[in-house]
Formats: sequence, structure tokens, C-alpha cells
Amino acid sequence: MGTLGGFPNPPAMVRGEQSSPASHAMRGRYAPSPTGRLHLGNARTALLAWLDARSRGGAFIMRVEDLDRARVPAGAEQAMLDDLAWLGLDWDEGPDRGGPYAPYRQSERTALYDGAIDRLLASGRAFACACSRADVARASQAPHDSDEDGPRYPGTCRGLGSDEVRARAAAQGRAPAIRFAGDGARIDFVDEVHGAVPADAGGIDDFVLRRADGTAAYQLAVVVDDAAMEVTRVVRGDDLLRSTPRQIALYRALGLPVPVFAHVPLVLTASGERLAKRTRPEAVADLRARGVSPAAVVGALAISAGLPAAGGRVTPADLVAGFSVAAMDRRPAVVSGL
Ligand SMILES: [Zn+2]
Repeated sequence: MGTLGGFPNPPAMVRGEQSSPASHAMRGRYAPSPTGRLHLGNARTALLAWLDARSRGGAFIMRVEDLDRARVPAGAEQAMLDDLAWLGLDWDEGPDRGGPYAPYRQSERTALYDGAIDRLLASGRAFACACSRADVARASQAPHDSDEDGPRYPGTCRGLGSDEVRARAAAQGRAPAIRFAGDGARIDFVDEVHGAVPADAGGIDDFVLRRADGTAAYQLAVVVDDAAMEVTRVVRGDDLLRSTPRQIALYRALGLPVPVFAHVPLVLTASGERLAKRTRPEAVADLRARGVSPAAVVGALAISAGLPAAGGRVTPADLVAGFSVAAMDRRPAVVSGL
């Protein structure tokens, strides 16, 4: 396959001029962050992404999202992969197996992210920014300029030359961050689970692509990786639904084909809280330690997703026939019975 700077060729060539039948296959992925132990919510999303790929005869890719390396405990990646394999999931490519799109750890893919940022800077779709978080908060005072991601960036550095931005950042003892040159475009899209997702009223903003410490932002890394790995279907948790328009804006700015998105509901605790570290959800490792079988765990996950699991004990392979992510209930789920 021809590549340019590590990227697939432009969309028309990727989709229309490949000769190998394998290159047309559907490709799905699961992309865990090994910042803690695999909990039932993670396992459920992984199972659904795996079922989506396998029910379509597609390849399944495991990609480790470990950009925030300070938060990755030693051994966490291996423990997470062990738990996923214990459940009966398998993958064709991944950090433990290699593959044609290696490396499969984001911490080893910095050159690809920097290459994409260079292209965006060259095409005027990105700019350097010297502002600290406090600067952005001060400059953006209207309350409607804030959302849950923090205050909306007021465009302070947009009109400045790169030398001036560098000098301003250096005066504060750091390198500039890089931001996307958002154009306020209102991007709506169709999600296979949620249906039509309307655009945010504010449109695409100047979100961060690379932090001042040189680390690529999630929004950039996930787009670069899914495109470079030729992922055609992205099945992931619906906490990322609101990030998707920004990612679509990046695909377009980079001239890359946009995958199909299916955002599956998150798992709530019995008291209605989202599974997260602070709610101390039971880890798959805890279930293993107290002797619960993988068939019982997969059975409970299947029942929570409305999938047939006679007797509550199934393997992932039992669920492949007839699986449709589009038929999933979009309401949050509770996993019980374990
Ligand atoms: Zn700035």
C-alpha cells in the first residue's frame, strides 16, 4: 500500500484502487487506556466492538491508548489484555501480536501525530498558542462561552505570528501548544446507535491538538490512528459522542475518510452512577479471583445489552450470529447477576 508520511493515500485511492481483497475488509477496534483495571463497562464496550467486527467478518484491532504515560501503572496493559482474552475475545493485530500498522501503542506513535500537526499547520488549519489554562479562563468571561470542557478558547493567539507566540510561551517557561483552527462549522452526523446527532450550537472550536509538553491530544491521536490503521467502524462508549464532531472536522481537514460511528451506552452502577475509578466498580480481575467463570461474565454483559444468553452463560462466539449494534438500546445499562 502506498503511504505518504505514514498516512493512507487520499480517500478515493484507498477506497477505489486497492487490488488486495483484504484491504476492502471491514476493520474495527477496541482502544483501551490502561490507567486502571478493566471493569465491566470496559469489558462490555470491548465485547460489543468485537461482536460488531466479527459479525461482519471484519478484522479486530487492539490499540493501547497510553498517551498519558504518567497515569499508566506498570503491568496494567498486560493485565487488561489478559482479562480481555480470558473473556474469550481475540484480536488480529495489537501490541502483543504486531501487525501491518504497528506500533499499536499510542506512546510509540508520536512521529505520526507530529506529522499530522505539521500538515495542519502548513494548510492553515492549526496554530500555535501560548495561553495557559488561566489565560483562557480570564480572556473568556461570558458564561455561555463555557461548556464541560472548560471555557471556550477566545482566539487570543490566532492573529499572532509564530515567533511572537514562541516568545510569549518561552517567557512563561514553556513551548507553545498547538490548536485546531476551528471555523465554527456545525457538524452533525448519523450514529448507528443514537441516530441523527445534531451539531453543538457553538460549532467547531479551537481545541488543543498538542499540549505544551509535546503530548498529542486524544482528539488528534484517535483520528490519526483510526485513519492510519484503516479502521472503518468505530464502536466505543457514548461518553465520546460529543467529541465526534471535532474528530470529523479533523478527518476532513486532513483529507481522510471518516469511519462509521456507533456509540454504545455506558454501564451504570445499581445506584445509577457511571462506572469510574471513584465509584470503585468491581474489576474483571476481582470476578476472576472469586471464581466467576468467563461464560457467566459474558452472559451478564450480553443480558445487559439485550442479547440472547440462555441460562446466563455464553461465549462471545455464541453471540456473533445476527448481532447488530444498530439494534442496541441507547439507554445506559446496568450489569447485574454476578
Ligand atoms: Zn493562545
